[in-house]
Amino acid sequence: MSTTSTDVKVQGIDCQLFINGKYQPSVSNKTFNNINSATEEVIGTVAEGTKEDVDLAVQSARRALNGRWKEMTTNERSAILRRIGDLILERQDELAKLEALDTGKPLWLANKIDIPRAAYNFHFFADYMTTLGTEAYQQDQEALHYALRKPVGVIGMINPWNLPLLLLTWKLAPCLAAGNTTVMKPAEWTPMTATVLAEICKEAGVPDGVVNVVHGFGPGSAGEAISAHDDVDAITFTGETSTGTAIMKAAAPTLKKLSYELGGKNPNIIFADSDLDEVVETTIKSSFINQGQVCLCGSRIYVERGAYDEFLEKFAAKTKELKVGNPFDADVNLGAMISKEHYERVLSYIELAKEEGGEFLTGGQVTEGMDKGYYINPTIITGLDRSSRCVREEIFGPVVTVIPFDLEDEVIGQVNDTHYGLAASIWTNDLRRAHRVADAVEAGIIWVNTWFLRDLRTPFGGMKQSGVGREGGIHSFEFYSELKNVTIKL
Ligand code: NAD
Repeated sequence: MSTTSTDVKVQGIDCQLFINGKYQPSVSNKTFNNINSATEEVIGTVAEGTKEDVDLAVQSARRALNGRWKEMTTNERSAILRRIGDLILERQDELAKLEALDTGKPLWLANKIDIPRAAYNFHFFADYMTTLGTEAYQQDQEALHYALRKPVGVIGMINPWNLPLLLLTWKLAPCLAAGNTTVMKPAEWTPMTATVLAEICKEAGVPDGVVNVVHGFGPGSAGEAISAHDDVDAITFTGETSTGTAIMKAAAPTLKKLSYELGGKNPNIIFADSDLDEVVETTIKSSFINQGQVCLCGSRIYVERGAYDEFLEKFAAKTKELKVGNPFDADVNLGAMISKEHYERVLSYIELAKEEGGEFLTGGQVTEGMDKGYYINPTIITGLDRSSRCVREEIFGPVVTVIPFDLEDEVIGQVNDTHYGLAASIWTNDLRRAHRVADAVEAGIIWVNTWFLRDLRTPFGGMKQSGVGREGGIHSFEFYSELKNVTIKL
């Protein structure tokens, strides 16, 4: 049975800052409205944090570094992480509804991916942290060297809106596992699940001051204040490449350690020998899941000429079956875009593609019958030149371009002709070609005959302007800890 918005009464929450274990308004007492992008209704208010609030949060995080948190054993901290994961699952229904309300994503998607993965981020790192060792070297009879793993200190976390709780917990779990404290800023569009998570952390036994949440905006506001703060030791940021540049500039005077997960313009490379039905099934997801607002979405699709027509026919037919609508309906495939601003930005790329002579196999317009909210139909464009901005720039919406190719070298050249280097999917049943192309494509994450298949131990991150550093498994600990070498003269 389909669930409609009238069946599910979902209320937003008013979001306060969370500093030193307590919810509180901002120093200025100012708030801004949280808008539901699916209905354009106000669903709550958000305390607007600024530099003064960041100062308080950083002081609280700094104090907490040396209290009870520091004295806990690895097993005690691991148990707390496990409990946070458990509590997220206990509150899954509430968290999924808040996430769907905040982002406009389908409720089923929040229930299937966002919230379970947020819990798993904690469960995974709760286990992983107990297995860590460091390095030791014996230098003949002269000396013994060994490394100690220490927390970095106060970590600033600046988060995006597309997978709010999933991506925030991907940072928070290893940050806590390594013994750090944090000041986190959720994206201004999606404050709700981070607000609830603060309470969950407290209930799980995280001491006051270890986890602080400051809501607010980026430039000239809370985001910039965290980036520039003297007493923040490192910044982990996920968001747009251009924001990464601004944060790097603000962080430069205090030489902060930085970890960046940035934008992408990810290619799908489909060879004619692949199983096209399987390709189409996965490409539907890699193109349109979360309204195309996933950094890993494949938005440039290259198809070997021998399979081009058949792929397009099947891909367009399946895309036409997708239903766009109310995120709380159980049978929708796509919900609403995150905001009016972003919706207009995506539509401007669609207009540009029209001006450039692109052919629209599906979509290219807003969704009929949705009088309120920001809905765009899944859009497939062909006939664009490789120099088109729609082929080169990250659109971050349900819009893909499809381009035919003849030769392996030719497609690799086109795929690598970009400043981005986040992810790529390669489809072929030729084993040697799969290895060759995987090696040649300049991206941090390569999938062969799949997409979005993750193992949290593997290095995750982008090459070129898609990122700095890697997260996952030991790579997260490399960022969230400092290694101190001790040399003993024998
Ligand atoms: P964004 O860069 O606009 O905002 C991200 C965060 O940065 C927000 O909290 C915002 O308030 C803050 N911010 C903005 N300007 C700032 C400034 N000058 N100083 C400090 N903070 C500032 O990104 P977004 O629109 O929220 O997210 C979409 C982008 O994120 C896309 O480019 C997407 O590819 C990227 N992304 C990358 C990954 C990845 O793992 N590589 C994952 C998800 C999203």
